[in-house]
Amino acid sequence: ERGPRDPLVIAGGHAVYNPEPIHAFFDAFVLGEGEEVIHEIVETWQDWQQSGASRRALLEALAGIWGVYVPSFYEPHYHEDGTIAGIERTWEGAPAEVRKRIVAKLPPPPARPIVPYVDITHNRVPIEIMRGCTRGCRFCHAGMVNRPVRERPVDEILEAIEAAIRNTGIEEIGLLSLSSSDYTHVLELVTRAAERFADQHINISLPSMRIESFSVDLMDALKTSRRSGFTLAPEAATERMRNIINKPVSTEQLLETARAIYSRGWHTIKLYFMIGHPSETLEDVQAIADLVKMVREEGRKIIGGRAKVHAGVSTFVPKPHTPFQWVPCDTMEQIRAKQDLLRRQARGKGVKLNWNNPRETMLEAWLSRGDRRMAAVVYGAWRRGAKFDAWHEHLRYDAWLEAFAEAGLDPAFYTHRRREIDEIFPWEHLSIAVRKRFLAQDYLWSREQKTRIDCRHQCFACGILPTFNDLRMANPGEGWGCPEVKPKKRRGRGEIPLKVAAPP
Ligand code: SF4
Repeated sequence: ERGPRDPLVIAGGHAVYNPEPIHAFFDAFVLGEGEEVIHEIVETWQDWQQSGASRRALLEALAGIWGVYVPSFYEPHYHEDGTIAGIERTWEGAPAEVRKRIVAKLPPPPARPIVPYVDITHNRVPIEIMRGCTRGCRFCHAGMVNRPVRERPVDEILEAIEAAIRNTGIEEIGLLSLSSSDYTHVLELVTRAAERFADQHINISLPSMRIESFSVDLMDALKTSRRSGFTLAPEAATERMRNIINKPVSTEQLLETARAIYSRGWHTIKLYFMIGHPSETLEDVQAIADLVKMVREEGRKIIGGRAKVHAGVSTFVPKPHTPFQWVPCDTMEQIRAKQDLLRRQARGKGVKLNWNNPRETMLEAWLSRGDRRMAAVVYGAWRRGAKFDAWHEHLRYDAWLEAFAEAGLDPAFYTHRRREIDEIFPWEHLSIAVRKRFLAQDYLWSREQKTRIDCRHQCFACGILPTFNDLRMANPGEGWGCPEVKPKKRRGRGEIPLKVAAPP
């Protein structure tokens, strides 16, 4: 409906790996990383403005850019049961599959951010040290969509810290990644950063640490403030459940790490869990309360009554492009029963518990795996006053239910339905370069509690390398987490030199 003078409305970021519920409101979406594609979009728009061509010509030009998805060039068809029968292109010039954009080599981190003149949450300069994660946690959307792992060199990071301090005056730096202790040169980085900025009263934080005492050594080396507590994310409390989600840490390893944390001066450990993992029982939820108390007891043995545990228990929502994209989300009744159990059991001196509103979880679930028909629901809820629903005081849950009824859709279809393994998903034509076959295999492995090791030690042929073969070849060396790929002529009989895991 937009004319030549209307603005071009585009969106990007992790949420648009399934943009179908909001497809009707946008001209285009960017799948993947924006550093390079933003320039191409701007140039395309400028050329179009000078050309005086139609708006349709602009959309066609945008659809030709790697990583740009123009939803109006695709049309899904549905079976009678509401599942998708197929997704058809309405313009044959559009790619059959839109592949996510990546940058082969991360550019130096931005070190001149806008400095706000009000106090903000996370008032620090974020410096991304590594992109992607090879751990393969099955619930983790970021871990799947950000493959491959790419690291920045230590010198580049140190220079960025120095420049950021000089440019902003901010005294807190966050060295960010999905799993900071997996950064290959993390010890060197931490040691050199601690030395170089020792006399500048800078607080350098390293979030997203693995559950091992090495993480405590790293925080110690950085002389990180003990005030805000030490965060660990076991995500589940039984070893069975941690195998299912592919976060195989033993309870003893967790307790050992907790002991190291309390004995090195921290009083508070924050533990992040999720309820609602596939096949979870009330015993698994009870185990969360038990583990919280076990950690507190370890602390009491070391620092007495000062030991505290803060448990954050969110509710799992299965995400597109992950091995759990096939599983149902818990119902409101299941979530409430689990939260009630936790409220009764995870309590006592030194224990604090946080949880999510189940209605917010439902909203997240509808939008995460919804299809195009959800756009009518989004519009209907908006017309009824839903605007800032991510702020819990503004959540208009009834407006959403009314909008579902008006659109003739059943909310449970999107949340509580187990998908068939060969179901066509609303995001089927959008590719993160990790193959659906790999995700399905991983899902089936989860049902047998079969785990995968870090794929930096054994490549499982998830699909990233064949897709980005040329980029890997052009960027040899340790900057990437995936194995090196030799040029074709040097390969023996043409096979891809990957060590591939045995099939299940
Ligand atoms: S191609 Fe191999 S090493 Fe690279 S992300 Fe996939 S499984 Fe991991």
